[in-house]
Amino acid sequence: MTARRPERRPVRSTRLVERRLGDRVELWTETVGSLPPVYGERWKELDTRTVRSFEPGRSKLAAGVVKGWRGPLPSPGERWLYLGAASGTTASHVADLVGPAGGVYAVERSLRPFARLLALAQRWPNLFPILGDAREPSDYADLVWFCDGLYADVAQADQVEIVRRNAAIFLRGSGAAVVVALKTSSMGRDRSAAGHLERAEDELSEIVDLTTSVRLDPFHRAHYLVGGTARVPERSATGASELTRGRAPPRGRSRS
Ligand code: SAM
Repeated sequence: MTARRPERRPVRSTRLVERRLGDRVELWTETVGSLPPVYGERWKELDTRTVRSFEPGRSKLAAGVVKGWRGPLPSPGERWLYLGAASGTTASHVADLVGPAGGVYAVERSLRPFARLLALAQRWPNLFPILGDAREPSDYADLVWFCDGLYADVAQADQVEIVRRNAAIFLRGSGAAVVVALKTSSMGRDRSAAGHLERAEDELSEIVDLTTSVRLDPFHRAHYLVGGTARVPERSATGASELTRGRAPPRGRSRS
Protein backbone atom coordinates (compact mmCIF):
# COMPACT_ATOMS: atom_id res chain seq x y z
CA MET A 1 0.00 0.00 0.00
CA THR A 2 1.54 3.35 -1.02
CA ALA A 3 1.33 6.58 1.03
CA ARG A 4 -0.65 9.36 -0.67
CA ARG A 5 -1.32 12.95 0.30
CA PRO A 6 -4.78 14.47 -0.04
CA GLU A 7 -4.80 16.20 -3.41
CA ARG A 8 -5.75 19.78 -4.12
CA ARG A 9 -5.35 21.72 -7.33
CA PRO A 10 -1.68 22.72 -7.14
CA VAL A 11 -0.54 26.31 -7.05
CA ARG A 12 1.42 26.61 -10.29
CA SER A 13 4.58 28.62 -10.73
CA THR A 14 3.96 32.24 -11.68
CA ARG A 15 6.43 31.56 -14.49
CA LEU A 16 4.19 28.87 -16.04
CA VAL A 17 1.42 30.12 -18.31
CA GLU A 18 -1.43 27.66 -18.99
CA ARG A 19 -3.94 28.55 -21.73
CA ARG A 20 -6.99 26.43 -22.48
CA LEU A 21 -8.00 26.50 -26.16
CA GLY A 22 -11.13 24.35 -26.50
CA ASP A 23 -10.14 20.91 -25.24
CA ARG A 24 -6.44 21.64 -25.73
CA VAL A 25 -4.07 23.10 -23.12
CA GLU A 26 -1.10 25.20 -24.21
CA LEU A 27 1.83 25.65 -21.84
CA TRP A 28 4.41 28.44 -21.93
CA THR A 29 7.33 29.20 -19.62
CA GLU A 30 8.74 32.66 -18.98
CA THR A 31 12.24 32.37 -20.33
CA VAL A 32 15.46 32.92 -18.46
CA GLY A 33 17.51 32.32 -21.58
CA SER A 34 17.99 34.00 -24.92
CA LEU A 35 17.26 33.07 -28.55
CA PRO A 36 17.60 30.97 -30.68
CA PRO A 37 14.94 28.37 -29.69
CA VAL A 38 16.30 25.27 -27.93
CA TYR A 39 14.35 22.60 -29.85
CA GLY A 40 12.12 24.50 -32.29
CA GLU A 41 9.69 25.77 -29.63
CA ARG A 42 7.77 29.02 -30.26
CA TRP A 43 8.78 32.28 -28.56
CA LYS A 44 6.55 35.33 -28.10
CA GLU A 45 6.01 38.44 -26.01
CA LEU A 46 3.15 38.18 -23.53
CA ASP A 47 2.43 41.47 -21.76
CA THR A 48 5.86 42.37 -20.39
CA ARG A 49 7.23 38.83 -20.48
CA THR A 50 9.03 36.69 -23.06
CA VAL A 51 7.60 33.17 -23.03
CA ARG A 52 8.45 29.90 -24.83
CA SER A 53 6.03 27.12 -25.70
CA PHE A 54 6.52 24.09 -23.43
CA GLU A 55 5.71 21.22 -25.76
CA PRO A 56 4.08 18.05 -24.32
CA GLY A 57 5.20 16.04 -27.35
CA ARG A 58 8.83 16.87 -26.55
CA SER A 59 8.84 17.03 -22.75
CA LYS A 60 7.43 14.44 -20.33
CA LEU A 61 7.10 17.12 -17.68
CA ALA A 62 4.93 19.24 -19.99
CA ALA A 63 2.93 16.14 -20.97
CA GLY A 64 2.35 15.40 -17.29
CA VAL A 65 0.98 18.90 -16.65
CA VAL A 66 -1.31 18.68 -19.69
CA LYS A 67 -2.51 15.24 -18.53
CA GLY A 68 -3.43 16.58 -15.07
CA TRP A 69 -0.35 16.15 -12.86
CA ARG A 70 -1.26 17.41 -9.38
CA GLY A 71 2.16 16.95 -7.85
CA PRO A 72 4.93 19.47 -7.22
CA LEU A 73 6.46 21.55 -10.01
CA PRO A 74 9.56 23.75 -10.00
CA SER A 75 8.82 27.17 -8.46
CA PRO A 76 10.64 30.51 -8.54
CA GLY A 77 13.72 30.68 -6.34
CA GLU A 78 14.13 26.90 -5.96
CA ARG A 79 17.16 24.75 -6.69
CA TRP A 80 16.47 21.50 -8.60
CA LEU A 81 18.67 18.53 -9.39
CA TYR A 82 17.88 17.17 -12.84
CA LEU A 83 19.07 13.61 -13.68
CA GLY A 84 19.29 12.71 -17.38
CA ALA A 85 19.24 16.23 -18.83
CA ALA A 86 20.29 15.15 -22.35
CA SER A 87 20.73 18.33 -24.44
CA GLY A 88 18.44 20.41 -22.25
CA THR A 89 14.98 20.34 -23.83
CA THR A 90 13.12 19.96 -20.52
CA ALA A 91 15.97 21.19 -18.32
CA SER A 92 15.76 24.62 -19.99
CA HIS A 93 12.06 24.82 -19.03
CA VAL A 94 12.81 23.72 -15.46
CA ALA A 95 15.39 26.54 -15.36
CA ASP A 96 12.70 28.93 -16.67
CA LEU A 97 10.29 27.82 -13.93
CA VAL A 98 12.77 28.31 -11.06
CA GLY A 99 13.68 31.66 -12.59
CA PRO A 100 16.78 33.82 -12.20
CA ALA A 101 16.81 33.45 -8.38
CA GLY A 102 16.81 29.65 -8.62
CA GLY A 103 19.09 27.11 -10.25
CA VAL A 104 19.15 23.73 -11.97
CA TYR A 105 21.99 21.21 -11.63
CA ALA A 106 21.70 19.19 -14.83
CA VAL A 107 23.42 15.78 -14.76
CA GLU A 108 24.07 13.96 -18.04
CA ARG A 109 26.51 11.12 -18.69
CA SER A 110 26.65 11.01 -22.51
CA LEU A 111 29.17 13.31 -24.12
CA ARG A 112 27.28 14.29 -27.25
CA PRO A 113 24.14 15.67 -25.56
CA PHE A 114 26.31 17.06 -22.76
CA ALA A 115 28.24 19.19 -25.27
CA ARG A 116 24.94 20.73 -26.41
CA LEU A 117 23.85 21.19 -22.79
CA LEU A 118 27.09 23.02 -22.07
CA ALA A 119 26.51 25.35 -25.02
CA LEU A 120 22.92 25.93 -23.86
CA ALA A 121 24.12 26.96 -20.39
CA GLN A 122 25.94 29.91 -22.02
CA ARG A 123 22.45 31.30 -22.78
CA TRP A 124 20.69 30.01 -19.59
CA PRO A 125 22.61 31.52 -16.67
CA ASN A 126 20.84 29.44 -13.98
CA LEU A 127 21.54 26.07 -15.67
CA PHE A 128 24.61 24.23 -14.33
CA PRO A 129 25.59 21.21 -16.45
CA ILE A 130 27.40 18.32 -14.75
CA LEU A 131 29.00 15.51 -16.77
CA GLY A 132 28.41 12.50 -14.55
CA ASP A 133 26.74 9.18 -13.89
CA ALA A 134 23.60 9.60 -11.78
CA ARG A 135 24.33 6.16 -10.24
CA GLU A 136 27.39 7.70 -8.57
CA PRO A 137 26.08 10.84 -6.86
CA SER A 138 29.14 11.11 -4.60
CA ASP A 139 31.15 11.92 -7.76
CA TYR A 140 29.32 15.26 -8.13
CA ALA A 141 28.43 15.92 -4.48
CA ASP A 142 30.99 18.74 -4.36
CA LEU A 143 29.18 20.58 -7.15
CA VAL A 144 25.61 20.42 -5.82
CA TRP A 145 24.11 22.25 -2.84
CA PHE A 146 20.91 21.04 -1.14
CA CYS A 147 17.95 21.06 -3.49
CA ASP A 148 14.24 21.83 -3.21
CA GLY A 149 13.39 19.34 -5.93
CA LEU A 150 14.67 16.41 -7.96
CA TYR A 151 13.53 15.57 -11.49
CA ALA A 152 14.69 12.30 -13.07
CA ASP A 153 14.38 11.13 -16.66
CA VAL A 154 17.21 8.65 -17.18
CA ALA A 155 15.12 5.89 -18.83
CA GLN A 156 16.91 3.12 -16.93
CA ALA A 157 15.56 -0.04 -15.30
CA ASP A 158 17.00 1.01 -11.93
CA GLN A 159 15.71 4.58 -12.17
CA VAL A 160 13.93 4.48 -8.81
CA GLU A 161 17.09 3.32 -7.04
CA ILE A 162 19.01 6.14 -8.76
CA VAL A 163 16.40 8.62 -7.49
CA ARG A 164 16.58 7.26 -3.94
CA ARG A 165 20.37 7.51 -3.85
CA ASN A 166 20.34 11.12 -5.07
CA ALA A 167 17.41 12.14 -2.86
CA ALA A 168 19.22 10.85 0.22
CA ILE A 169 22.21 13.08 -0.47
CA PHE A 170 20.84 16.20 -2.10
CA LEU A 171 17.26 16.94 -1.01
CA ARG A 172 17.01 19.68 1.61
CA GLY A 173 14.53 17.76 3.77
CA SER A 174 10.94 16.60 4.04
CA GLY A 175 8.56 18.40 1.70
CA ALA A 176 11.14 18.65 -1.08
CA ALA A 177 9.78 17.63 -4.47
CA VAL A 178 10.47 14.39 -6.34
CA VAL A 179 9.24 14.01 -9.93
CA VAL A 180 10.16 10.98 -12.05
CA ALA A 181 9.44 10.37 -15.73
CA LEU A 182 9.10 6.59 -15.80
CA LYS A 183 9.74 4.79 -19.08
CA THR A 184 8.27 1.36 -18.48
CA SER A 185 9.61 -0.11 -21.74
CA SER A 186 13.15 0.33 -20.32
CA MET A 187 12.27 -1.64 -17.18
CA GLY A 188 12.28 -5.21 -18.48
CA ARG A 189 9.76 -7.59 -19.99
CA ASP A 190 8.91 -9.44 -16.81
CA ARG A 191 5.79 -7.34 -16.17
CA SER A 192 3.27 -5.02 -17.86
CA ALA A 193 3.54 -1.22 -17.96
CA ALA A 194 1.01 -1.05 -15.11
CA GLY A 195 3.04 -3.67 -13.19
CA HIS A 196 6.23 -1.62 -13.56
CA LEU A 197 4.35 1.49 -12.43
CA GLU A 198 3.01 -0.29 -9.36
CA ARG A 199 6.45 -1.55 -8.35
CA ALA A 200 8.04 1.86 -8.91
CA GLU A 201 5.34 3.50 -6.77
CA ASP A 202 5.87 0.94 -4.01
CA GLU A 203 9.63 1.53 -3.97
CA LEU A 204 9.32 5.30 -4.19
CA SER A 205 6.69 5.44 -1.46
CA GLU A 206 9.38 4.46 1.06
CA ILE A 207 10.77 8.01 0.79
CA VAL A 208 7.98 9.98 -0.95
CA ASP A 209 4.36 10.84 -0.14
CA LEU A 210 3.02 10.10 -3.59
CA THR A 211 0.67 12.16 -5.71
CA THR A 212 -1.50 10.24 -8.17
CA SER A 213 0.71 9.16 -11.08
CA VAL A 214 -0.19 10.38 -14.56
CA ARG A 215 -0.01 8.34 -17.75
CA LEU A 216 1.68 10.30 -20.54
CA ASP A 217 -0.01 8.69 -23.57
CA PRO A 218 -0.50 9.80 -26.33
CA PHE A 219 2.48 12.16 -25.99
CA HIS A 220 4.92 9.52 -24.67
CA ARG A 221 3.84 5.89 -25.00
CA ALA A 222 4.06 3.70 -21.87
CA HIS A 223 5.52 6.55 -19.79
CA TYR A 224 4.21 7.88 -16.47
CA LEU A 225 4.94 10.90 -14.32
CA VAL A 226 5.39 9.68 -10.74
CA GLY A 227 6.37 11.45 -7.53
CA GLY A 228 5.28 13.75 -4.75
CA THR A 229 6.92 15.21 -1.65
CA ALA A 230 9.92 13.59 0.00
CA ARG A 231 10.35 12.29 3.53
CA VAL A 232 14.08 12.65 4.07
CA PRO A 233 16.19 14.02 6.96
CA GLU A 234 16.20 17.81 7.35
CA ARG A 235 19.42 19.55 6.31
CA SER A 236 20.86 22.88 7.29
CA ALA A 237 24.08 24.73 6.61
CA THR A 238 25.41 23.49 9.95
CA GLY A 239 23.88 20.02 9.88
CA ALA A 240 24.87 18.81 6.42
CA SER A 241 25.81 15.24 5.59
CA GLU A 242 29.48 14.18 5.45
CA LEU A 243 29.33 14.37 1.68
CA THR A 244 28.35 18.01 1.57
CA ARG A 245 29.64 19.44 4.83
CA GLY A 246 31.52 22.72 4.64
CA ARG A 247 30.65 23.72 1.10
CA ALA A 248 29.29 27.15 0.33
CA PRO A 249 26.02 27.19 -1.64
CA PRO A 250 26.47 28.13 -5.31
CA ARG A 251 24.00 30.37 -7.12
CA GLY A 252 20.31 29.61 -6.56
CA ARG A 253 18.72 29.88 -3.16
CA SER A 254 16.57 27.52 -1.16
CA ARG A 255 13.07 28.50 -0.12
CA SER A 256 13.76 27.18 3.40
N1 SAM B 1 15.16 14.63 -19.86
C1 SAM B 1 15.45 14.86 -21.26
C2 SAM B 1 14.46 15.86 -21.77
O1 SAM B 1 13.26 15.79 -21.44
O2 SAM B 1 14.88 16.79 -22.46
C3 SAM B 1 15.47 13.57 -22.04
C4 SAM B 1 16.30 12.52 -21.34
S1 SAM B 1 16.57 11.02 -22.24
C5 SAM B 1 15.06 10.22 -22.19
C6 SAM B 1 17.51 10.13 -21.05
C7 SAM B 1 18.89 10.71 -20.82
O3 SAM B 1 19.41 10.13 -19.64
C8 SAM B 1 19.89 10.39 -21.95
O4 SAM B 1 20.45 11.58 -22.41
C9 SAM B 1 20.93 9.50 -21.25
O5 SAM B 1 22.25 9.71 -21.74
C10 SAM B 1 20.80 9.95 -19.81
N2 SAM B 1 21.23 8.93 -18.84
C11 SAM B 1 20.97 7.60 -18.84
N3 SAM B 1 21.53 7.00 -17.77
C12 SAM B 1 22.16 7.98 -17.09
C13 SAM B 1 22.94 7.98 -15.90
N4 SAM B 1 23.17 6.86 -15.20
N5 SAM B 1 23.45 9.16 -15.48
C14 SAM B 1 23.24 10.31 -16.16
N6 SAM B 1 22.52 10.36 -17.31
C15 SAM B 1 21.99 9.21 -17.77
